[in-house]
Amino acid sequence: MNFTAVLKRMPCEVKPRLVVLYGSQKGQAQSIAEGITEEAEEHGLVAELSCLNQNEKYNLERENAPVVFIVSTTGDGEPPDNTLQFVKHIKKKTLSTDHYKHLCYALLALGDTNYANFCNCGKTIERRLQELGAKQFYATGYADDGVGLEVVLDPWIEGLWKAIKGALSKMASDRTGQFKGEVGDSAKEAPDSSVPDVQLNLLSLTDHQNCESAGASVESDSKFASAASSSVSATQTAVSDLKPESPAGSPGLASQPGGIASVSTSAPETQTGGAGVHHVALAASLTCSMPPLSESSLNVPTLPPPYLDVSLQEVDAMGEITGPSNKEALHEVPISRAAQLTRGDSVKTALLLETDIYAYPMMTYQPGDSFDVVCPNRTSEVEDLLHRLGLQDQRKHCVHVSLCKDTKKKGAQVPSHIPQNISLLYLLTWCLEIRSVPKKAFLRALVEYTRDSVQKRRLQELCSKQGAADYNLYVRDQSLNVLELLAAFPSCLPPLSLLIEHLPKLQPRPYSAASSCLRHPGKLHFVFNVVEFPACTGRPAGRRGLCTGWLFDLINPVLVFPGKAESSSSPALPKIHVSLRPNCFFRAPSDPSVPFIMVGPGTGVAPFIGFLQQREKERQENPEAVFGETWLFFGCRHRDRDYLFREELEGFVSSSTLSHLKVCFSRDDQEEEAEETAAPAGRARYVQHNLLCNSPQITNILLKQNGRLYVCGDAKNMAKDVNDTLIEMIKTELQVDQLEAMKALAGLREEKRYLQDIWG
Ligand code: FAD
Repeated sequence: MNFTAVLKRMPCEVKPRLVVLYGSQKGQAQSIAEGITEEAEEHGLVAELSCLNQNEKYNLERENAPVVFIVSTTGDGEPPDNTLQFVKHIKKKTLSTDHYKHLCYALLALGDTNYANFCNCGKTIERRLQELGAKQFYATGYADDGVGLEVVLDPWIEGLWKAIKGALSKMASDRTGQFKGEVGDSAKEAPDSSVPDVQLNLLSLTDHQNCESAGASVESDSKFASAASSSVSATQTAVSDLKPESPAGSPGLASQPGGIASVSTSAPETQTGGAGVHHVALAASLTCSMPPLSESSLNVPTLPPPYLDVSLQEVDAMGEITGPSNKEALHEVPISRAAQLTRGDSVKTALLLETDIYAYPMMTYQPGDSFDVVCPNRTSEVEDLLHRLGLQDQRKHCVHVSLCKDTKKKGAQVPSHIPQNISLLYLLTWCLEIRSVPKKAFLRALVEYTRDSVQKRRLQELCSKQGAADYNLYVRDQSLNVLELLAAFPSCLPPLSLLIEHLPKLQPRPYSAASSCLRHPGKLHFVFNVVEFPACTGRPAGRRGLCTGWLFDLINPVLVFPGKAESSSSPALPKIHVSLRPNCFFRAPSDPSVPFIMVGPGTGVAPFIGFLQQREKERQENPEAVFGETWLFFGCRHRDRDYLFREELEGFVSSSTLSHLKVCFSRDDQEEEAEETAAPAGRARYVQHNLLCNSPQITNILLKQNGRLYVCGDAKNMAKDVNDTLIEMIKTELQVDQLEAMKALAGLREEKRYLQDIWG
């Protein structure tokens, strides 16, 4: 039976059901699930959307409609907070192997390959569903935020509809078969024991090596999607087919002789000359595309339905909050000292902040814990955004946000991060992450508010399937924000409601404690690099990271520089809002005899300063105790410019707190290096090369002495390189193959003896 037949068999108005469940930490999985729910209607389906923790809204134990899971992974491979209960439930050993045999599911896992345990939560749920007898009707997608979720996400969603329809047809024909069998013996089987033996739709999306084949299969899937949707509704389509319109006063392109088209917007190289002659664009940019994209038909995402009504009301005086909105959960701590750790000629600027936490016994922390620092958006950017929205004179007005009465958005809610009774200025300063990179759905929504046809076409391209590479290149990889985007597309005039709908909550930034309370009672130290975003197409001038730039400006007047005497009359020191973010795994071993290894280049050394301060104190207090070996692998560019905490680290070695300090300098002359190098000749040396030099001792500690290894710092390169090096070391030392070495390392991770605290 085909899907149309399924539809025909349905009583009038009854459409096939679909259940969409999401587990989301930062809202990405949620918004994907919402998108699928909305698109379902266009495919003749009724989707029921729930968060995995809303178990009163769904019942997997009895569900006989296809279920689609969209789940992200957070931290060191943990489930999102709102998925913990569900994972705990399905992990119960008491569940039988046919517990979910009636269940038919598809799963999209979101993760980031820069972090350990890629898509771990999705993989765990999948494993358990299979162990409990559930049937998969569509191959699992593993979308990688490290390279762009859409690489897997877009083809996965396109293929999903066909797979759901296949699953529904199969389920219906299985039921018919079952019904015929039941005529003679209706009491024999329970109604929901008709397990649909749904065939797997083998769209292979398990990793990005498979993207090409996935992309190739999308062509036909996408045709199917368009055809199917047009048969369901003539006016709505899941993907709109947009061709560049003719140059005569319409969006699109001026076709040039020879088939070259120029999209002329603000890019200087594409300006129309005085004589009205079009100059052909020489290169693509944020605002300008080149063939074949500029000549291509476009598949753009469905327009996200608007769901918020926003009004601004003039008020005499607002008794509004100042500073962060959730103050009750925060501590306002004074900065007691701020020092620059790097020399002025260093590429990066690393700063040490010392804060006073005497007044907050609740803030007692352990080395290995982090702190969230709450920062506001930059005043100048808030002002620019107010001007850009034409709301500069209404900055003090009170913002009223409510749900649109007739919104088509399923499960629409006023975002919980928008407090009542706040001014517009407060909203933009403390509530919305105005620096966030606009998602494609946001770009799609902006198209509707763009007057100029050429700019409109370019925005369509950037959010389209065909323009995915340009989106990555000019928007995502450049970390462009909405203000920069609006500057590049001057005819785009979105309403405030659109920004509130699409900008996420302003997030606090975590920093690892770089001190121990034993050494510095009542103090908390942390160290950070001032993040720099260089100028690029779409950003005429470079800018600093939001929080690190804000901290830098805050402490600049009181900053102590390396080698300079500290002034005795210190000026007034500012305060910052922080909250504790415990990490109960990233702790030095409670048994002091257990040896451990720390790998922390650059600011990644922060938690290890805390570990070593604590260890030094413990050694002083228990001189008779047995202490295991400690190793620290540190790395930076230059010995005399950015060797953070040099004196303190050398002091730990002198006091025997640190048994081995291995430091490498990636940009200093290789001949300066005293230690034998494992790096290829002429190449920079990084921490992993020093690990390799000491492979027998390190593997001995990990594999024979029950020791631990901690890695902290840059997630993008360092943590991966260290991981690969550890696999190589295990291969050599144990004389095993790659798979066995990977298993050994995974075992260490499971036992919490290989721990990471990484970011970037
Ligand atoms: P934003 O304006 O938010 O820009 C962020 C962008 O900068 C991202 O695109 C990212 O790719 C990039 N980025 C993020 N971190 C860095 C970095 N360190 N260097 C270069 N580029 C970066 N940072 C520290 O410096 N010291 C710490 O001890 C520390 N501990 C952390 C602990 C945890 C558990 C986590 C999750 C993160 C930690 N970070 C630490 C990173 C920190 O939270 C911020 O992400 C970082 O300071 C950038 O914030 P920002 O607001 O200035 O940048």
